[in-house]
Amino acid sequence: MLERCVGTLRARQIQRAIRHGKITLLCLFMTVIVLRGTIGAGKFGTPEQDIDDIRQHFYAHRKRVEPHRVLEEVQTTDAAKTADPNNYEKFDMNKLFVDEGEDEKRDPNKQYSLGPKISDWDEQRSEWLKKNPTLPNFLRPNKPRVLLVTGSSPKPCENPVGDHYLLKSIKNKIDYCRIHGIEIFYNMALLDAEMAGFWAKLPLIRKLLLSHPEVEFLWWMDSDAMFTDMAFEVPWERYKDHNLVMHGWKEMVYDEKNWIGLNTGSFLLRNCQWALDLLDAWAPMGPKGKIRDDAGKILTRELKGRPVFEADDQSAMVYLLITQRDKWGEKVYLESAYYLHGYWGILVDRYEEMIENYHPGLGDHRWPLVTHFVGCKPCGKFGDYPVERCLKQMDRAFNFGDNQVLNMYGFEHRTLASKKVKRIRNETSTPLEVKDELGIRHPAFKVVKVAASS
Ligand code: UDP
Ligand code: MN
Repeated sequence: MLERCVGTLRARQIQRAIRHGKITLLCLFMTVIVLRGTIGAGKFGTPEQDIDDIRQHFYAHRKRVEPHRVLEEVQTTDAAKTADPNNYEKFDMNKLFVDEGEDEKRDPNKQYSLGPKISDWDEQRSEWLKKNPTLPNFLRPNKPRVLLVTGSSPKPCENPVGDHYLLKSIKNKIDYCRIHGIEIFYNMALLDAEMAGFWAKLPLIRKLLLSHPEVEFLWWMDSDAMFTDMAFEVPWERYKDHNLVMHGWKEMVYDEKNWIGLNTGSFLLRNCQWALDLLDAWAPMGPKGKIRDDAGKILTRELKGRPVFEADDQSAMVYLLITQRDKWGEKVYLESAYYLHGYWGILVDRYEEMIENYHPGLGDHRWPLVTHFVGCKPCGKFGDYPVERCLKQMDRAFNFGDNQVLNMYGFEHRTLASKKVKRIRNETSTPLEVKDELGIRHPAFKVVKVAASS
């Protein structure tokens, strides 16, 4: 029949093709069976789940190898530019980062200190402010001069993609600070070798307070925290009688002694003697090695819910407040009316719902000021959560905040997961008539008072 239609030779070819097709199908079937057994949804998975799992497996695998690929690309493109490509082929990234010399060693019998004792900072500072009237510590009433301080390790991230997220995170902070008239300091130097890791901020903060008497409030923000409300202005007036503002709850800190009763990933510290004293009282558990390890045991024993690990700055702060509440408590404001720090786990899945129902400027659960990726360690090796989940959600948080910036210019991310943007307004020949809906393109503090002409 087939022969009659297409001729003998052609018919044989078709029959062979069908035979091959059968073998191919058999192979495909076997492959699916094997993949199901190893990575599939398991015994109870539907075929759709299987396909999904398989796709995810390959996707995840590709994501893992991608950073490596990026590094290779950098090396080969550079090689193309040089006269002697062999030099570059042998090039070892680690050779770029040579550390000369030993770390400064402290006499282990001497008590650790952040620096020489200062006890008249308030006088020194107010003297300086009097002599420098062009650098006032308040830009207007209730608008203090603020320096936002953040930073990351002097080394590249363990995984190069981590450096990309550090870049996104600083871009996000630059945007918020530009809109709110806040200056930024990005630190990559380990000022004190003993205070590595999450303790690095202490010597840094002290140095900056002393070097910038014009700064009224220093705002520390972790590199893994992002602004998700570009319009929210901190209610500075509320803190006029306080020196340290952290997100947290009194009951959780003082009654429960819970190690997550407050968060030290985003806090405000007033430039004053009290702050220097607090840093001195906060620092002793920081020096790495035996001191930090032993202190970690005390903190785990004394605080609720704390896992076993070396002393961290947050637990040390809770411990300081519960053991010396009389000394510090009065000047510490535990803020829970808005998210000065917001734990990412409870926020990131609700962004679409927030967009649906609310608007920027609220700062609280309806539109969080900060989304902090606690435990994600995008730049390190060991996070508490799967790295894919962290990075995916960090992208969403970034885009959520970035939309508020792009909106000013008539653009928006296509979705919260998308790097691509779409136009949301038609361009006109009268661009100055476009309304600044959130009032953040030309915020009031940027207006300079001009003497009325007579
Ligand atoms: N950090 C730093 N230098 C370092 C390591 C960390 O300045 O060498 C900063 C960085 O901004 C980081 C913060 O310390 O965000 C605290 O660490 P992390 O955010 O990883 O802790 P978590 O919030 O997960 O407890
Ligand atoms: Mn953090």
